[in-house]
Amino acid sequence: MTHAFDVVVVGAGGAGLYCALEAGKSARTAVISKLYPVRSHTGTAQGGIGAALGNVEEDRAEWHAFDTIKGGDYLTDQKPAALLADEAVSAVYHLENLGLPFNRTPDGRIDQRRFGGHTRNFGEAPVRRACYAADRTGHMILQTLFQQCIKHNVVFYDEFHLVDIFIERNRCCGLAAVELATGDLHVFRAKAVLLATGGFGRMFRITSNAYANTGDGPAVLARRGVPLEDMEFFQFHPTGIRGLGILITEAVRGEGGVLRNRNGERFMEKYAPTLLDLAPRDMISRAILTEIGEGRGAKGDRSADDYVFLDASHLGKDVLAAKLPEISDFSRTYLGIDPAAEPIPVQPTAHYAMGGIPTDDRGRVTIDDKGTIIEGLYAAGECACVSVHGANRLGTNSLVDLVVFGRRAGQDVSGYVGQAGLPDLPPDLTDRIGEAIARLRERTGGPPPEPLREEMQNLMMQKVGIYRTEKDMAEAVRALGELRGRYRDIGLVDRGREFNTSLLEILELGNLLDLAYITACTALRRRESRGAHAREDFPERDDTAWLKHSLARLEGDAVVIGDKPVDISIWPPRPRKY
Ligand SMILES: Cc1cc2nc3c(=O)[nH]c(=O)nc-3n(C[C@H](O)[C@H](O)[C@H](O)COP(=O)(O)OP(=O)(O)OC[C@H]3O[C@@H](n4cnc5c(N)ncnc54)[C@H](O)[C@@H]3O)c2cc1C
Repeated sequence: MTHAFDVVVVGAGGAGLYCALEAGKSARTAVISKLYPVRSHTGTAQGGIGAALGNVEEDRAEWHAFDTIKGGDYLTDQKPAALLADEAVSAVYHLENLGLPFNRTPDGRIDQRRFGGHTRNFGEAPVRRACYAADRTGHMILQTLFQQCIKHNVVFYDEFHLVDIFIERNRCCGLAAVELATGDLHVFRAKAVLLATGGFGRMFRITSNAYANTGDGPAVLARRGVPLEDMEFFQFHPTGIRGLGILITEAVRGEGGVLRNRNGERFMEKYAPTLLDLAPRDMISRAILTEIGEGRGAKGDRSADDYVFLDASHLGKDVLAAKLPEISDFSRTYLGIDPAAEPIPVQPTAHYAMGGIPTDDRGRVTIDDKGTIIEGLYAAGECACVSVHGANRLGTNSLVDLVVFGRRAGQDVSGYVGQAGLPDLPPDLTDRIGEAIARLRERTGGPPPEPLREEMQNLMMQKVGIYRTEKDMAEAVRALGELRGRYRDIGLVDRGREFNTSLLEILELGNLLDLAYITACTALRRRESRGAHAREDFPERDDTAWLKHSLARLEGDAVVIGDKPVDISIWPPRPRKY
């Protein structure tokens, strides 16, 4: 079956929907999503969206931009970061006008709270910058944007799974997707395609990410020869529920929650004397591992599954019920703990991909260090790398990224499709992809995918996690290469056409393996410590040799890595102290 649209957006999270809403005003726009739209991962975002509204105390977009750049350990491109901070303000008011029910101050303005790394006056003290709807901010964004897209006649293809993208002579001309309900292959011709397929935390064992976060968009593009940017930087959030990884939002600390070790000490006093528990995530995750490594974890046995405590009991039942109902519920459901009475056991959890598909600040996919674009191809949201998060994203800045750059991409794409024609597809393309899927369906009798997935997740957790060494990462690269080889023999148990989720799981595992391999290769190459990339053997940041982005190209079994300059045109890099 073949469809034709001006714009096809892949992904119905915050980034995809914002882009579709903008593009849908003037162009025939479709959204395809492997999940029903409001089940997208944006719906789990808890704590808030950062914007310098200055509603509860003085704040400025310039301070927000500076915090973002310093938080990213100066790998952040500075002009896009300034754009992010500037346009965050109008994007939040736009969401409010679309109907998003933010929490309010007593005089009726959008309420704001503190979040890690967000400060007033270039680092003096924490500032209240996160706008929030209790701890269900992402849920509210997603519902608001979905309703608006329906109102503006965006066409939705729910439970359609992207399998390939067509790029001919540096021009994107469409994509192929499998319809989950029927197993049918659909081809979408389009003047422009935007990828907004979200993150890929599922390559790690302990993660806050949903099962669907398998990096399908970046992986498909990597196999089509598009390089991926800064893949070595993967963020661990300090407070996942012990053993499960389910997130306990930073807003708990924003409201006054405190991290403690087995002796009840507020250990962040040692590591970040000014910002304490509101230091950036990379620093707090490392501080937790240091406490555990020195025997001050809850168990005190220095083991990989030791943990620390997040104490919110002093906030009281009323604050927890009004501002943090979701995490209170999680604690009761998964741990049998009432956070108003006891501290929550937490450990770092793989959370956010700073790297991804390189784009310019209009969402156009770029392929080299000169900013050459692929015509008609866009990306936004967590799967993209603008790069506004550098080596470490600040909390609340992902939701800003989705709405600011989702909106900018939507505006650019509407202009582009207004003057572009519908490109032709190569004649035998549909047959080729159909045959590839049919071959996969016939692959019975091989080993099942689950053990491979577990091996990959354990490898990434143990060898490409928070602290990294040459020896561990070289071993990970070797083992992941071997897993990619074994993947080619995997067998399919279910050969049915309707709702064949095992077929999709195999496709998703292939995507995760490719991205894990690129992550390990790029991490092995970067011989310094910066943001989320902490090397025990190269503990210092090295601006002379490594103040540059990586661009990694998958060429069969090899990952070829080049460089791209960082825009440091506003603030020169300085040591990062909090
Ligand atoms: C628990 C949690 C809490 C968070 N809290 C915050 C917060 O408070 N503030 C903040 O700024 N950030 C937060 N984040 C981060 C933020 O929520 C995410 O980075 C962001 O929502 C990602 O949005 P997205 O639109 O890029 O992708 P997603 O919302 O993940 O959407 C991806 C979309 O792509 C579709 N898709 C994927 N693959 C395919 C395919 N093969 N075919 C078709 N469709 C596909 C999916 O169906 C989905 O619709 C949090 C993250 C987590 C995990």
